[in-house]
Amino acid sequence: MHHILADDLSRLPQLLQSARDFAAREVAGLPERPVARLDEAPGPGPLPAGGAGADGALARFAERWAPGFSGSAGPRYLGFVTGGATPASVTGDWLTSAYDQNGSGAAGSWATALERETVAWLRELFGLREEHTGAFVTGATVSNTVGLAVAREWLGERLGVDVSREGAAALGPVDVLSGSPHSSIAKSLSVLGIGRDRLRRVPVLPGGREAVDVAALDAALAALDGRPAIVVANAGTVNSVDFDDLRAIAALKERYGFWLHVDAAFGGFAALSPAHAHLVDGLDAADSVCVDLHKWLNVPYDAAVQYTRRRDLQVRVFHNASPYLGPPTGEPDFLHLTPENSRRLRALPAWFSLVAYGRDGHREIVERNVALAARLGEGVAALDGLRLLAPVRLNVVCFTLADDPTEERVAALARAVTESGEAFLTPTVYDGVPGLRAAFSNWRTSGEDGERVLAALTAALAG
Ligand SMILES: *Cc1c(COP(=O)(O)O)cnc(C)c1O
Repeated sequence: MHHILADDLSRLPQLLQSARDFAAREVAGLPERPVARLDEAPGPGPLPAGGAGADGALARFAERWAPGFSGSAGPRYLGFVTGGATPASVTGDWLTSAYDQNGSGAAGSWATALERETVAWLRELFGLREEHTGAFVTGATVSNTVGLAVAREWLGERLGVDVSREGAAALGPVDVLSGSPHSSIAKSLSVLGIGRDRLRRVPVLPGGREAVDVAALDAALAALDGRPAIVVANAGTVNSVDFDDLRAIAALKERYGFWLHVDAAFGGFAALSPAHAHLVDGLDAADSVCVDLHKWLNVPYDAAVQYTRRRDLQVRVFHNASPYLGPPTGEPDFLHLTPENSRRLRALPAWFSLVAYGRDGHREIVERNVALAARLGEGVAALDGLRLLAPVRLNVVCFTLADDPTEERVAALARAVTESGEAFLTPTVYDGVPGLRAAFSNWRTSGEDGERVLAALTAALAG
């Protein structure tokens, strides 16, 4: 063994203690550090020839890189839809690395059984029945890709084509219908060989809504003349957090043959709140479902789940056939269900958080975030210089300048907020108008944080 490696091995407990001490200081400082950094990062350094040991690496990281990291795990990073990491999930994440299990299959470990337990708990949390089976993947983009890959295989079943063997081209042009799809859907279609241009926008409801007009979807399906299609329903759009009427869309299946995929990346968490659960009514009727976990479950990146009722088709797509891996018998190993072969046990952070806080604790996070968004929405509406672009339906406040909201002026406002170090918001375009989004999905955001964000916006407007 290399002498530095041997030295690190002999001091492993102290090294872990140093990492713990460092992380504890950084996490404790989150509420006060600048929420985001705009200054330029250092250029890449040379590959180290001699090693510095783990202590040396920690010292160099602390000096060279840590100061430039954002406070994205903290309470006022409201860009995109950014979850933090609950204390229990960090514990689970550290242990995931310490144990370094390969979640591809049983392989002499109980790790995959733990993943199955977690997938089943989350299924219950989101109100899905047992016909839905699932797996952990890296994020909602991959979860959408897996769901749409199973959809593609289903189209093949309908058309008498074995897509996993013959290729997507054997299907001919595929119709994918959606009202306000997330950009990851087009990316998934590109990956899957279906093609970005096959995503067809169905009109949304009038009155500034982002939810699909079900009558228009009905008409679009009728126009396909019996050709099977894929419908992507959206449960929580990123700008206005609008929800398609999942029950009404599922009811169309009585008349048309289509695969219903639901992108519930963060909107799926509405199921945790009795006051908002109606928004995801009908989620269970989907053929495949995507829910992100590194957003509103507040586990570290990267974690999401995918569910489907057609595990048989999923195995056809993802089956990894090799004598050294064994055949997919009985309960298929995860390597036959997901894009990865070897995979991190990313269920463990979620398992820890669910055991630590339960359904009630996670419900409290969701409901607090929703209340904070409503309050910021009221504050923004009351400010002279700003106006809401959409009603605050759940956890996102989408707003713009009251006067002359050009892209440049809105970007300048966002920059001023970021430079204050107090908050981080990201730009968007809603209904053709440039604006900003404040998305609440962090477990530690408080009422006081909400007031600091509003104060930062007020100051940025004045400056
Ligand atoms: C965030 C998001 C995605 C993509 O999620 P990643 O985890 O970043 O891959 C997809 N759909 C919706 C609705 C989202 O909010």
